[in-house]
Amino acid sequence: MGSCRPTHGNRRADPAIRPRLCARPGCDEVASATMTYDYGNRSTWIDQLDPDSSPAGYDLCVNHANSLGVPSGWSRTDRREPPSPFERVAV
Ligand SMILES: [Zn+2]
Repeated sequence: MGSCRPTHGNRRADPAIRPRLCARPGCDEVASATMTYDYGNRSTWIDQLDPDSSPAGYDLCVNHANSLGVPSGWSRTDRREPPSPFERVAV
């Protein structure tokens, strides 16, 4: 609330902005989730794609995010929001 982060302002479209791709080798799907982990706590988290491209996160496509496995003893928490409100719409 109190932060004064600049919004769009007058910046023109940045040519460096391009779709981020899945970090998995051999996968060129567009990333839709960001995976982060904490080695000490043996925890991994899957979030909506982080727009700031955190260096600690791995971008994953939806398939790899959904199928992400973690080593035994690790926890995996999917914090993504439901994909859309249109799911389960009663007609
Ligand atoms: Zn992928």
